[in-house]
Amino acid sequence: MYDNNNIFAKIVRKEIPCDKIHEDDRVLFFKDINPKAKIHVLGIPKANVINFDDFIDKCSPEDVVHFFKSVSKVIDNLDIRESGYRIISNTGENGNQEVPHFHIHILGGQKI
Ligand code: AMP
Repeated sequence: MYDNNNIFAKIVRKEIPCDKIHEDDRVLFFKDINPKAKIHVLGIPKANVINFDDFIDKCSPEDVVHFFKSVSKVIDNLDIRESGYRIISNTGENGNQEVPHFHIHILGGQKI
């Protein structure tokens, strides 16, 4: 079951600040607080979904496409399309997921 008190839920509700990169009514992108690369941005849908599987199961095809198109737009805004980047989504115990709200890591700005 989705935990309404996870840290990203609090960020979506503006109860906790974030270093915002991009936002609209359905998605939010912000800098990771503990960056693993020169550029480390997290992207989340605002829907209450736990992980990738939950996102695909519960959100509409339009929302799924909108999210991944937003990831692509942010990659352009960060100016890392040409130099390259890595996108990751950790899921579950073996994936080492810490925050139980679906998110994509965008890493770049250096060789990963
Ligand atoms: P994951 O292991 O995929 O769940 O990664 C969670 C990520 O969230 C980690 O890279 C953390 O550094 C990051 N993180 C945790 N709290 C915050 C926060 N308040 N603002 C930004 N990033 C955060």
